[in-house]
Amino acid sequence: MLNFRSPSNHERILAMAMRQIEKMLKDMQSEGKDLSRLKLKKFQKTHHIDCKCKLCEEAKKKNDPHMRGLIEDGFKVYVDGDKKAD
Ligand SMILES: [Zn+2]
Repeated sequence: MLNFRSPSNHERILAMAMRQIEKMLKDMQSEGKDLSRLKLKKFQKTHHIDCKCKLCEEAKKKNDPHMRGLIEDGFKVYVDGDKKAD
């Protein structure tokens, strides 16, 4: 029997990831790190530079990389104003 990914399984993985992030942040806080300036930034990856899809062609024509097609969402966690990470 093939094991397909079900939505409930997906949600369980997500919940697990959230708990791990929460634990990581609590650990950081207990180490004395200031998390009050912690920021979570969402970013999106664009298609490959040579992509020929409609969105990318249009972006090339108008010379605007922001119009390119997007692949997926990504997340970046960082502390605002803290340039030196230890
Ligand atoms: Zn594209």
